[in-house]
Amino acid sequence: MAVCSLVSTPKCSILAGWRWGNRNRFPTRNPAEFNQKGNDLPRETTRCWGIWPPAIYYRQPSEPTEGIPMQIQRNPTRSVRVGSITVGAGHPIAVQSMTATHTTDIPATVALVNDLHHAGADVVRIAVDSDKDAAALAEIRKQTSANLSVDLQENYRLVTQVAPHVNKVRYNPGHLYHHEKSKPWQDKVKFIIEAAAANDCAIRVGVNCGSVDPAIKDKFDPHDSIGPMLASATEHCELLDSIGFNRYVVSLKDSDPSKVVEVNQRFAQLRPDVPLHLGVTEAGLPPDGIIKTRIAFEQLIGRGIGDTIRVSLTVPNSQKSMEIQVGRQIVDDIYAGRLRSVVALDPSKLNIISCPSCSRVENEAFVELAQQVKEMTAYAKDYAITIAVMGCRVNGPGETDDADLGLWCGPAKVNLKRRSEPIGAFGYDEILPKLRQELDALIAQQQSSQAS
Ligand code: SF4
Repeated sequence: MAVCSLVSTPKCSILAGWRWGNRNRFPTRNPAEFNQKGNDLPRETTRCWGIWPPAIYYRQPSEPTEGIPMQIQRNPTRSVRVGSITVGAGHPIAVQSMTATHTTDIPATVALVNDLHHAGADVVRIAVDSDKDAAALAEIRKQTSANLSVDLQENYRLVTQVAPHVNKVRYNPGHLYHHEKSKPWQDKVKFIIEAAAANDCAIRVGVNCGSVDPAIKDKFDPHDSIGPMLASATEHCELLDSIGFNRYVVSLKDSDPSKVVEVNQRFAQLRPDVPLHLGVTEAGLPPDGIIKTRIAFEQLIGRGIGDTIRVSLTVPNSQKSMEIQVGRQIVDDIYAGRLRSVVALDPSKLNIISCPSCSRVENEAFVELAQQVKEMTAYAKDYAITIAVMGCRVNGPGETDDADLGLWCGPAKVNLKRRSEPIGAFGYDEILPKLRQELDALIAQQQSSQAS
């Protein structure tokens, strides 16, 4: 049997004990083929993450699958109950997902919540941005027994309407400044916590690379993206501790897996008692989105960091349960020692990031657009360029700032940016040629700087 050469290199010592199938004998297939009906990735599949772009290898069922089971010493986090499950304190790593339907479309949202629940989701998150969303949530609650989490964005005061219907409330410290600008953020957090405590809800302090509190960001070097995230998370933990509320978890998400690893490792050193929710935000389309997530999770979970996870994939709602199946598969694989990576993403290659979509998507053409962007830009695979494709105007403008080219989708137009500089808004049928033009210009720039 041929063995992936990386297994025997020092780079891949973590792969010891793992054997790969022969690439020629086991041709690549698209994982989506396995998930048309929400079925699990078959256990006999293996992927080689040692090559970029990654090849996907399939093992013959007769070949060994087991690596050396890992002895993982989980961080001694506190326990946090979320409805019928408990996160932290050595409890099984909980796997979560999020709806991407319009929350006001009650039948579609209930169907998706239940689909995720039946696929094994421990918690399902729903975004709520308006009074109408909050009213719909009350109805959704009646039609499902899933543990529900709610995602508050700018309008933190909605918490009093939603907390009675959910088991967990997530707030983003970076969004608290939008409303009531003169009110101290501490008062806003106390308001959220009072509602959570009164309604038996846990809290997630969800810090995101693209929306860090600007007051904290200003105190750091603009090139330091990790410091502000850590400072924001720890100051919120201190506030929650000081008011005697410790039923909370923290998440620190970035679209770059290496930053997810670094920021979570550093946070876990500072606060080993706080349960961590892991995720690579805007990981994108499968299989790349799965690979990015796996890379980060292996590094963290393998070191005992992480109590709950979400795999964020850009997939249609009919395939959203893939997030649960992939999440469980990754956790199972890590514990069984079936580790597939220690590779960093290659910074000299094209990197496409795209959000997993949620109820804020205003044009469902977004998922298809993300796929088209990936296909159209394949010719640029050998250039160090990052392209971000985001589904909405809520987070799209901020989350695309760090990409070389960013697209965020509105109801009828797609907005195109060169880093933080807007280029214009274009129809869904106009955007690809426009993007190509910008991409060609970037490539020409890189070529001329290499030549000089
Ligand atoms: Fe939802 Fe917008 Fe974030 Fe995409 S960018 S996941 S649509 S909030």
